[in-house]
Amino acid sequence: MIEVCLLGTGGMMPLTNRFLTSLYCKCEGSGLLIDCGEATQIAIKKANLSVYDIDYILITHFHADHISGLPGLLLSIGNSEKKTKVTILGPKGIKEVVKSLRIIAPELPFPVEVVELDKKEGEIKLNVFNIQYYELKHKMICLGYNIILNRLPEFLKQKAIDNNIPIKYWNKLQHLIECEDEITGVKYTPDMVLGEERKGIKISYFTDTRPCDNILKWTRDTDLTICEGMYGNTDKSTNAKRYMHMTMVEACEIAKETKPKNLWLTHYSPAEVKPQVYEKELKKIYSKVKIAKDGEKIKLVFV
Ligand SMILES: [Zn+2]
Ligand SMILES: [Zn+2]
Repeated sequence: MIEVCLLGTGGMMPLTNRFLTSLYCKCEGSGLLIDCGEATQIAIKKANLSVYDIDYILITHFHADHISGLPGLLLSIGNSEKKTKVTILGPKGIKEVVKSLRIIAPELPFPVEVVELDKKEGEIKLNVFNIQYYELKHKMICLGYNIILNRLPEFLKQKAIDNNIPIKYWNKLQHLIECEDEITGVKYTPDMVLGEERKGIKISYFTDTRPCDNILKWTRDTDLTICEGMYGNTDKSTNAKRYMHMTMVEACEIAKETKPKNLWLTHYSPAEVKPQVYEKELKKIYSKVKIAKDGEKIKLVFV
């Protein structure tokens, strides 16, 4: 099970009634944050979530609305008396950017590791979270992220019995650890006790981009897709192209192909005072679309 909270839904600048787009996920006690614009630490408190739990911070790109909240957040995490490592990941250049921002947060009571994701696409395992990343199409290098929770195949007791597997190895084999009997040298492998592969949970997060092939390639069949819908007003499609953003209609057109179970739009332009007014029309393009609000939450479980 993974708990997901979209802390804010704004783009460009925080408003008095709208925090900047940032996603907080928690699974098995470990917290992961994507993007950290100004005031993200306040949005976390408002959503009744804990900065202490944050172990990973993924940054999409270096525009201020996605990273300027980082030093304040790190200081808040420090105040929570966290002692364990926080890993910050982002596109090429993240080490330099974090180093500069940390001039005002130099001393922290926990170790910070910064990881540069310098390939065009790739995968990285962060504890329970399997992360996929890929390049988007924005004014600077910008990464889209998938969070994937794998699900272990079912343990089949009868299969273990039929294969004469000693009970003392059942638990390890169930958790994909191969075993070898010290006396007889007989080897036991996980497939001797496990059933078919099972579908896990997939969440896609992409914002600050024009529609592009990589979105179609990487974000199919998710349980939840969170993506930008900067402009609801279709008159603004020229602006979307000029500033390398996406309209709500474009986001829904993409979803028609990629088929997410849930589609949350976010990163609204400050000019969109009531983005909810577009929802009804957008549902005609993709019925599962939601104009997400700040603090929107969902719990996703294995089915
Ligand atoms: Zn932005
Ligand atoms: Zn941007």
